[in-house]
Amino acid sequence: MDKIYRIAIDGPAGAGKSTMAKLLAEKLGIDYIDTGAMYRAIALKLLRTGTDYHDEKALGKLLDTTDVDYYGGKVYLDGEDVSSLIRTPEVSSMASESSAVPAVRDKLGELQMAIAKKRSLLMDGRDIGTVIIPDAEFKFFLTASSRIRAYRRICEMREKGIECDLDQVEQEIQERDYRDSHRDYHPLKKADDAIEIDTSDLKISDVVDKMMEIINEKIN
Ligand code: C5P
Repeated sequence: MDKIYRIAIDGPAGAGKSTMAKLLAEKLGIDYIDTGAMYRAIALKLLRTGTDYHDEKALGKLLDTTDVDYYGGKVYLDGEDVSSLIRTPEVSSMASESSAVPAVRDKLGELQMAIAKKRSLLMDGRDIGTVIIPDAEFKFFLTASSRIRAYRRICEMREKGIECDLDQVEQEIQERDYRDSHRDYHPLKKADDAIEIDTSDLKISDVVDKMMEIINEKIN
């Protein structure tokens, strides 16, 4: 396959985007870019420096002096691999809030657009098919009920030895959904030409196979 093709996968938190995206990119032999990890890296910097993202001047200064990069499946903050440090509830919550700020979205959006130029890749996030790669060759929008997404999150946490309450996790997911889809700037939204897949009752492998089938049909 010499032709460049870009795959955009969007959807709410916990719909299984990153697990499925990683597997699909591996099968296709293309790079996978987790844009959520970039928002999390900025959130980590905000937390570490105690910067208030409402303070325009302080936020501007932080963004001007912060370097975020994503390659080899890892996210780097000012050159430091922070891939595991960004998976905490504090960072999740800060990323969900600070990602609504246009200055944060502009900085990361510009970076993501540059990464997506002239190469085949798979990028997942909230605004990939609508803003970052509006001309992507393939667009998917993955959803699942909030209960199922909360249940999946609980299982992930349990594997790490952390016990959480299902109702509380579901409530947090619903709050993040609301913030993502109601922000004024680049909200979570299905692109008109994206294929929607409800993953609630599907196995990970079934979703990956389904996307693979759609892609192969067009590129082979
Ligand atoms: O995908 P993940 O849950 O790791 O993303 C962390 C947060 O970053 C999300 O809650 C969402 O608010 C934000 N995000 C975003 N746009 C993206 C990717 C993530 O606003 N493209």
